[in-house]
Amino acid sequence: MLYGALEAGGTKMVMAMIDEGGNQLKRQVIPTRTPEETMPEMIQFFRENKAGALGVGCFGPLDLNPASPGYGRILSTPKLSWRNYPILDAFIEALDVPVALDTDVNAAALAEWKLGAAKGLNGCMYVTIGTGIGGGIISNGRILHGTMHPELGHILLQPSPDDPMPEGICPYHQGCLEGLASGPSIERRWKISARDLPPAHPAWELESGYLARLCADAMLFVAPERIILGGGIMHQQFLLDAIRRKTAELLGGYLPDLSWGKSREEYIVPPALGDHSGILGAWLLSRQAG
Ligand code: ZN
Repeated sequence: MLYGALEAGGTKMVMAMIDEGGNQLKRQVIPTRTPEETMPEMIQFFRENKAGALGVGCFGPLDLNPASPGYGRILSTPKLSWRNYPILDAFIEALDVPVALDTDVNAAALAEWKLGAAKGLNGCMYVTIGTGIGGGIISNGRILHGTMHPELGHILLQPSPDDPMPEGICPYHQGCLEGLASGPSIERRWKISARDLPPAHPAWELESGYLARLCADAMLFVAPERIILGGGIMHQQFLLDAIRRKTAELLGGYLPDLSWGKSREEYIVPPALGDHSGILGAWLLSRQAG
């Protein structure tokens, strides 16, 4: 059987047909437009390629509570045409195969745990820091869900006293993590793209401090076995070391050494699957569905 995998993003839809062994046999990328324009193309791709099951890792937030009447819908996304769109039902009705839906970051967390940087552990936390900030948590071998899914990007932070833009840019909470540390917030604050900021720029001191706050809070809240930090902002390699150091400073020696696994370098790590974690995660979801 061939599995369909969809990484549904705010700007592009990545579709793939993947075999039992995880080999990507076919791949197609289309821009994300309205559901009316985009869905028929995706349905055609999976139908033509005879997907026996489909896994969807989708931008969120999503209603993932099976008891909810809105189960399988996209919630308060800034992409207005997709707001309230019942993406799960639309695929089930059109394809008549088992379909599994989760967030893009939960899918990526699943892939990094099964196949990548957290392979062999019981769980991990995966966070992507780019245009937005999102994350997924695997705990005791399962994706962590509650009433919905974690929204790590919107944890509420105390802005640093050194922050020249402490008000942040999140339309919901201003100075949440995404409002203070996403790519667009860096650009708004310093009037320069994160990509062009030199390593010695004070922007990175601030950025590593905010991301360390997330790591320290995560260790206190869910004690993940490993923290994986990816996304465009993390392409700045020097950031990881600063985040490790500041996370330890914030924790003040409170947690036992055991909390860090073997070492800080092995605890807060980059992803191992690069750009493939999303689509491989969708494949893993499709296998759970099929
Ligand atoms: Zn927010």
